[in-house]
Amino acid sequence: MTPRRCDAATLSERNAQLTDKATIDALTRSSAGGNVSYVGVFLRKDSHHSHHGPYEPAVVTPEVLTDPDQLYPVGSFAQVHRIQRGADPRPDRPADQLPPGLRPDTDTDAEDDVADNVAEGQASVLLLGHRRVTLTSVDRLGPPVDVTVEHWDRIVTDPFQSDMVRALSNEIVSMIREVATLNPLFREHIHYFPTRVDSNDPMKLADFAASMTTGSAGELQGVLAEKDPEARLHKALTLLTKEREVSRLQQEISAQVEAKMTEAQRRYFLTEQLKSIKKELGMEKDDKDALLGKYRQKLAAFTEIPEEARRAIEAELEKLSALEKNSAEFNVTRTYLDWLTELPWDTATPERYDLARAREILDRQHYGLDDVKDVILQFVAVGKLRGSIQGKILCLAGPPGVGKTSIAKGVAEALGRKFYRFSVGGLSDVSEIRGHRRTYVGAMPGKLIQCLKTTGSNNPLILIDEIDKLGKGFQGDPASALLELLDPSQNSSFRDTYLDVPVDMSKVLFMCTANVLETIPGPLLDRMEIINLSGYDVPEKLEIAERYLVPKSMLESGLLEEKKTDAAEGDTDAPSDADADADPDPDADPDAIPPLPEYLTPSAVPADLAIERSSLESLVRWYCREAGVRNLEKHIRKICRKLALQVVAAAESAPLTERTRRKAPGWTVDADTLDEYVGKPPFTSDRMFPGDTPHGVAMGLAWTSMGGAALYIETQGIVRSADAEGKPRGGGGLRVTGSMKDVMKESTSIAHTVGRKFLHEYQMGNSYFDDYDVHMHVPDGATPKDGPSAGITMVTAMLSLAMDRPVRADLAMTGEVSLSGLVLPVGGIKEKTMAARRAGIDCLVFPAQNKRDYDELPDYLKEGLEVHFAEEYKRVFEIAFMEDDFFDHKI
Ligand code: ADP
Repeated sequence: MTPRRCDAATLSERNAQLTDKATIDALTRSSAGGNVSYVGVFLRKDSHHSHHGPYEPAVVTPEVLTDPDQLYPVGSFAQVHRIQRGADPRPDRPADQLPPGLRPDTDTDAEDDVADNVAEGQASVLLLGHRRVTLTSVDRLGPPVDVTVEHWDRIVTDPFQSDMVRALSNEIVSMIREVATLNPLFREHIHYFPTRVDSNDPMKLADFAASMTTGSAGELQGVLAEKDPEARLHKALTLLTKEREVSRLQQEISAQVEAKMTEAQRRYFLTEQLKSIKKELGMEKDDKDALLGKYRQKLAAFTEIPEEARRAIEAELEKLSALEKNSAEFNVTRTYLDWLTELPWDTATPERYDLARAREILDRQHYGLDDVKDVILQFVAVGKLRGSIQGKILCLAGPPGVGKTSIAKGVAEALGRKFYRFSVGGLSDVSEIRGHRRTYVGAMPGKLIQCLKTTGSNNPLILIDEIDKLGKGFQGDPASALLELLDPSQNSSFRDTYLDVPVDMSKVLFMCTANVLETIPGPLLDRMEIINLSGYDVPEKLEIAERYLVPKSMLESGLLEEKKTDAAEGDTDAPSDADADADPDPDADPDAIPPLPEYLTPSAVPADLAIERSSLESLVRWYCREAGVRNLEKHIRKICRKLALQVVAAAESAPLTERTRRKAPGWTVDADTLDEYVGKPPFTSDRMFPGDTPHGVAMGLAWTSMGGAALYIETQGIVRSADAEGKPRGGGGLRVTGSMKDVMKESTSIAHTVGRKFLHEYQMGNSYFDDYDVHMHVPDGATPKDGPSAGITMVTAMLSLAMDRPVRADLAMTGEVSLSGLVLPVGGIKEKTMAARRAGIDCLVFPAQNKRDYDELPDYLKEGLEVHFAEEYKRVFEIAFMEDDFFDHKI
């Protein structure tokens, strides 16, 4: 028998691995010949090998002891059940440390398992723990180590003597069962529970429970060394509770990992399935047959397609089937086929020729613009009689912001057509209109074909914006491409360069917009029906602002909301069955006029919030004087946004800056509070000389792309020093400045001549024009100006200079002057009249031949004006210099 130091926290059988040759030899010797040998098993205090769990064999190295104090004093007395040595055994040393092991019963089943695991030079020892021992002395450090021990008496505890012990025992049993449900390894152990453990023996129960846990060696040693049954049970229970928590955690982790795994597997599985479904349905990208099938299907679905297009598609399909899937040409052909088969060859929106509906829609969206509306209604009437309105091109000409684009949109809605807008301003590349050659990389059809594809109908309304700003092309002329497109005799077979098959554009309704007509190429202009929009006067602007712009802007900024009516929902259902077969779109009734939206103030907005008419008047007069209403709309939006900020800030009691804070007590914006919202007015007067005009200055009226404008003509004599005889040197010349273009420059020369002649007749002795050079200037100098219509103003300014008399202060004039002094007609009478009113002019002179234009103006424009019509310059002179009785002139 070899007394051995060892440890054991709980009694059970244990496997130990020995590496020290002397220990192995000693053990082998003592066990030889069937001898039963025993060892003491103690835990080393400092051992970091002590963290092994109960489920793995202990590693016993090193087995050499250097200091007796390294051992815990309480250990196990164990029987060496079996020793197995490795291949080249050199037993030398004793085991250093063994795992906890006390056992309730002898069990020899495990013997056979050990043999295979024994490494070279090592030995595997199966130990059966018998009872606890206390170390009294270490007699020899060895190896092997000799110790003297004292055996513990068997502690017999009757659980029925103490309620505490019984309660703890019961708790341990139920805890063991609970952990077993969580942990499969535990379940294996519990298998032996009834056979090995007498549950009536609390000490053994505690040992068994502790031996099953993964508690640290120190904790297990605590159980081993405990003599008091209650305390030992307590310690074991603590270990079990810890075990339960660990098991729970372990289960949670494994559930999470499993969930992740199944999710990934599911995805993989579904993707694979999707792939195979796609393949079967021919949706797989590179599936050529499916692609060909798709095009054939589309081709077969066309009820009407030009023969040439059909042949082209078929030829391309043939080509595609022979091409390699990954080749560049395959993709080119495929894109081409996409375009060919996606054009609306036989799809059109139903034409709506209903006068009342069209009128209602046009009026609802736009105030005034009667010229445009009348022409559209004529179209509708013709369409109703003839069944179509082909071959009409409307051109809306006028200053910016007068509603050209937006009325075109309204026309599309009134006629039930799709709307498409493209701007040709600055366009110089003809392929934008006609498309690229297919051979180019990234080639595309032109805008028109793109429009057909986008709108999906072959009869949309196409708005060609800014046709007066069409660029000059360096490769082909965009104007001639447009000409081909717009010409009704050619556009039924419009040939796009990319598409290369004729496309019928004759069902399309074209509208164009322009600011001025002069720059539109002649042949294009020739084919259009021009409608002039001359801009709005103050009362018109006020109406537009009040009825359209204010509600629109308030709606956009959330100060108003649209009321949702039940009637509107009911309406859509009712007509759908009445007219279902006539309209391919079953949920829209073709002739129903959309109900008028009703507005209400959202609850968050104060009820007295409003933009008063007086503030709109002020806006129109002092802030937004241009012909259109875009700037006016911008100002109204600005007011609405600021109001929205103030409403929200008031609701949240949020602080605002001095600029944005509301100063007025109420929520209405009127003329007095307007500048809080839009700042100080940029205009205080339209006149450069607010009082009397100086000598040599006259006011003309001009017509620009921005509408009408008052325009001063200034003249000055160039003073030179006199010669020895007191006569001025030079004289008779004319110098002009102010960015005038050719026509206007010429008219200055004409005016000079007319002025000289006139002065000669009127003031015989006045030699001003002979003595002085004249310098004429038209402010503002940076704006280019052209046209002959300032002729009479120039003559008047020069005469004022020569005679040294001022021109009547409240007078403005326009008219071309001929060399013989006749006054010739000019354009833009309405715009010019409006400009004069804005500048506060009361007296106007127009050419006699413009009388009819003036008479056609609305009364509110003519009100309070003194207007004269001149046939010859003399008449202008009389009015300008208030010499009514000088010439006996009648008109
Ligand atoms: P254009 O194309 O002539 O430059 P827009 O069509 O863009 O001008 O019009 C600018 C804004 O003015 C749009 O919001 C439009 O609704 C509004 N507007 C112009 N004229 C009217 C009008 N007669 N009635 C109502 N709103 C108008």
